Amino acid sequence: MTRRPLISGNWKMNNNHYEAIQSVQKLHYLLPKETLEEVDVSIHPPFTDLRSVQTVIEVDEMEFALGAQHCHWEDSGAFTGEVSPAFLEKLNVAYVVAGHSERRELFGETDEMVNRKIVAIQNHQMVPIMCVGETLDEREAGNTETKVLGQVVAGLDGRSNEQIASLVIAYEPIWAIGTGKTATAEDAQTVCAAIRGKVAEIADSATAEAVRIQYGGSVKAANATELMGQPDVDGALVGGASLDPDEFARLIQFSTP
Ligand code: PEP
Repeated sequence: MTRRPLISGNWKMNNNHYEAIQSVQKLHYLLPKETLEEVDVSIHPPFTDLRSVQTVIEVDEMEFALGAQHCHWEDSGAFTGEVSPAFLEKLNVAYVVAGHSERRELFGETDEMVNRKIVAIQNHQMVPIMCVGETLDEREAGNTETKVLGQVVAGLDGRSNEQIASLVIAYEPIWAIGTGKTATAEDAQTVCAAIRGKVAEIADSATAEAVRIQYGGSVKAANATELMGQPDVDGALVGGASLDPDEFARLIQFSTP
């Protein structure tokens, strides 16, 4: 099976809604139509930008999917400051990141919370991008696969094969996020293949063949081709490099099959 690549731009807490509109328009202007026929691109701006970015994508008929960086698992209630998956669905959000390492490390998200979010995101017809990854200490202790595969199993708990096949897993070694350090293409391939193997074990081989696995961690135009050329790497979750439309447009073009 050929899996369609997905390149996702995670803007983190950058770009107000005016800057967001300009950035999306510039990115679209820079990308040839043919590229967008071969690769899915999702843009994940901060919550305050979502409505503006949704409008510009829809009015200008851009081939971009709208993404969110996070959500709560409940539809409504006394959760001050949180954002409902039901509200994201209303904005035509297509992809929602769950369990980004910054959320896990800075805001105490656990595997159990990530699992509840995945259920909620899928209940609202959106696609979760579930992030997994090891710290530098875990890597140096030889525990990369134990950590990453443990997060995969916990995050996917209770999901059917069909639900697993339709979601996205992002392998993001924590030591490579925002540090300029990238896993080698071989390392990225090894861990992504191990993730696919684990999915085959907890679901079946057809599910493992279908699930898309992104690599994330200092991906830029200069390393995109090599990383995306790996057989088990189906795209990228991109932070810093997605903030510059010129760089992100090059990266997307270099990621096409
Ligand atoms: C990310 O935000 O998920 C990420 C991988 O960031 P960066 O590309 O800046 O390392």
